Amino acid sequence: MEFAEANGKGKLSVVATPIGNMGDITFRALWNLKECDVIYAEDTRVTAKLLAHYGLRKSVFRLDAAMEGKKANEVISRLEKGKHVAYVSDAGTPGISDPGARLVAAVREALPEAKIEAIPGPSALTAALSIAGISADAFSFRGFLPHKKGRQTALKKIVSSDIPVVLYESPHRILKLLKELHDVAPGAAVTVARELTKLHEEVLYGTPSDLAAQLEKKKAVRGEFVVIVEPH
Ligand code: SAM
Repeated sequence: MEFAEANGKGKLSVVATPIGNMGDITFRALWNLKECDVIYAEDTRVTAKLLAHYGLRKSVFRLDAAMEGKKANEVISRLEKGKHVAYVSDAGTPGISDPGARLVAAVREALPEAKIEAIPGPSALTAALSIAGISADAFSFRGFLPHKKGRQTALKKIVSSDIPVVLYESPHRILKLLKELHDVAPGAAVTVARELTKLHEEVLYGTPSDLAAQLEKKKAVRGEFVVIVEPH
């Protein structure tokens, strides 16, 4: 479909996609994925599955974190020609611990006339907060902690924060993170939200060592995790 704003420039739609359950996608997201000229995606195979699930056929090009700068030029040249480009990451909201921000910044700088619109939807961040039973009127989001340099400082800041702190963690590192939290604040109140929107969704509460014990009981620590550390 030929798309152009009144000024002849195109539109970049930044589209949120499911974080597990394929049903969690908005009508507007599907409409955009159907009507856009082209989709750029963090991983074309992941997006191909989503499109197939909804019976959508569209050209999908890869634009992951490593190629965000280089590929931004390609997106900009399409927008210059009045095209409608959609951007999706593998899961959830682009730009939230995912590529997307540098693309948006590059488009905004090179082509300020182009429209950039958000197509909001799922994010593990908001999904976890919505069922944590913690007031999230104010919170801070740290995403993934650095693996080495700055990790200890980050951990100390987290446990001394006066508002809840939300982290993302992988299954390989969740036990390590809980042990580190135990070392800096054994009494901290922590929520772990796991496999949100999926079959094995669960929310666990406790001190870091309680939670590590609960997770260690399971044969293998699988899944994706959001960790919320409450102020104490
Ligand atoms: N952009 C995504 C968002 O809006 O949530 C986040 C992408 S980040 C690369 C992936 C991390 O998000 C995972 O390692 C995990 O910490 C968290 N995550 C994603 N999906 C999740 C789910 N279904 N349940 C729990 N955490 C999830």
